[in-house]
Amino acid sequence: MSTRQLKQIDNKVLIIFTMDVELAREKGKKMSGPVSDKAGRRSVENYLTVIGKYGYTPTFFVHPELTEIQRDFFLNLRDKGAGLGLHLHPTKFTRKKCSVEMGGLSEKQQREILGLAVDMFEQNLGIKPQLFRPGAFSANDYTYKVLNELGFRGGSISIPGRIWAERFCIWSGAYPYPHLANSNMRQVPGNLPFVEIPLTVDFSRPLRLNHQGYHHYFDLRPGEKIYAGNTIIQKDFQLILENIAKQLVKNDPMLKTIVIDTHNDLEYLDRETESARHLHILLEHIDPVLKKYGLEPLDATMDKAIERFLEKDNEGE
Ligand SMILES: [Zn+2]
Repeated sequence: MSTRQLKQIDNKVLIIFTMDVELAREKGKKMSGPVSDKAGRRSVENYLTVIGKYGYTPTFFVHPELTEIQRDFFLNLRDKGAGLGLHLHPTKFTRKKCSVEMGGLSEKQQREILGLAVDMFEQNLGIKPQLFRPGAFSANDYTYKVLNELGFRGGSISIPGRIWAERFCIWSGAYPYPHLANSNMRQVPGNLPFVEIPLTVDFSRPLRLNHQGYHHYFDLRPGEKIYAGNTIIQKDFQLILENIAKQLVKNDPMLKTIVIDTHNDLEYLDRETESARHLHILLEHIDPVLKKYGLEPLDATMDKAIERFLEKDNEGE
């Protein structure tokens, strides 16, 4: 059987549930984050409980200060099998606050600020972070090179298609499936030993402008408010999943993944809330929708997905 035929029968899709774990927001400031660190921790626990019921294991991207404030909590999650990576908003980093997100920083500035965050993570948890996601998916063409130099193995830096210039997040034309990052141009695969696993988006509808003033495709994050003019429209998770499944079958990437993101400022247990309702609808539809298109969902953390990608890459698929 040829490699090509082998590739065609690989119907497995790694389902990677992630969460960006933020510090509590500062009072009176318009920023993301839970109302308190305690509330943020409860949100993390509830997310773990809900997706765990469906057999999924999350990957948490944690803002570095929380590795000190909630050290044992995160070490315990890691012991239970959760993925643990670094999340950083230079605009929120208490060790060295910047006026812009990652993509607005020079190579030297990124090396310095990421180095400080890596040190903080490592000193508190005793492990060097190997996975990264920047706040607001903000990056520029230096970011992968710097991450590689600092010892990161991979992460989820990109959100294909999103254009949010104010946050230095421009991913027009970005390759949407797992790949080795490029040291010169962030949207294009390259040969850096850094495995990029992009957030999964639905390309079947045109890029849309949302009420916050940025362009994006639909993705699977729960609790997102979608407006048409002044009216909130319901996000149809079944339809988005169907579109994503069709894309996976059509494009047949070397490694099939579905990456879902959310935050620790949302409720996941109480189904009276939109975020909990969305998460449950999503979880209930993954199996039937993927099976309908001949695909098989598998639970994976980011670490597992990186390993699987490297195995396949070495097999020369
Ligand atoms: Zn964030």
